[in-house]
Amino acid sequence: MSRVEDFHEPIPELIKTTPDTMLTGTPIYDRDIAFAGDLDEKILLIGDSAHPMSPFKGQGANLALLDANDLAESLINNPDNLQNVLNSVVARSQKRMDQSRKRVFQLHDPNGQHELIQERGLNQLILESFEKNNITAEDAADGTIQEKVLKALEPFDILPKK
Ligand SMILES: Cc1cc2nc3c(=O)[nH]c(=O)nc-3n(C[C@H](O)[C@H](O)[C@H](O)COP(=O)(O)OP(=O)(O)OC[C@H]3O[C@@H](n4cnc5c(N)ncnc54)[C@H](O)[C@@H]3O)c2cc1C
Repeated sequence: MSRVEDFHEPIPELIKTTPDTMLTGTPIYDRDIAFAGDLDEKILLIGDSAHPMSPFKGQGANLALLDANDLAESLINNPDNLQNVLNSVVARSQKRMDQSRKRVFQLHDPNGQHELIQERGLNQLILESFEKNNITAEDAADGTIQEKVLKALEPFDILPKK
């Protein structure tokens, strides 16, 4: 509970009221290179088994669905050439795996967060947002600055999730 007590409602409440026996926690793994198996060994992998990645790019399930669709179509229409499926699984997923790894760095490492801000040209955009929200040095004096800054930063999706 101590890890989530600062999260926004209703998350702490949901976790508090969930029986311990229904809570699980597992490590998340990713892999450098997509690998969809070897047909000579009668192995064809799809989904996370072929391209495990962190969830921070939101791509794993999407790719798994595409893989499953390719495999089903091939089994129906072209069952003697499953190599096509294997090739498309690898070709489609490697870029997303790399992007997912990059996103972990950008969202969870201070150097990565700096990179993200630079990459999106956020410095200038943030200054413009401060201007639009009429944030000035005087706000620091009257105690309203934190609230106003958080509001000005909201559209940029760079604030830590509560
Ligand atoms: C926190 C989190 C958030 C995510 N958010 C997103 C998102 O927003 N968008 C997105 O696209 N993806 C997201 N993902 C990724 C997505 O959940 C996975 O990529 C997807 O579920 C992979 O599907 P899969 O069928 O390959 O594997 P799984 O869903 O892991 O299915 C594998 C199944 O095999 C079973 N199994 C394992 N070993 C055996 C065995 N020996 N015998 C029989 N059965 C076995 C498991 O119990 C499981 O049911 C997220 C993942 C996490 C963890």
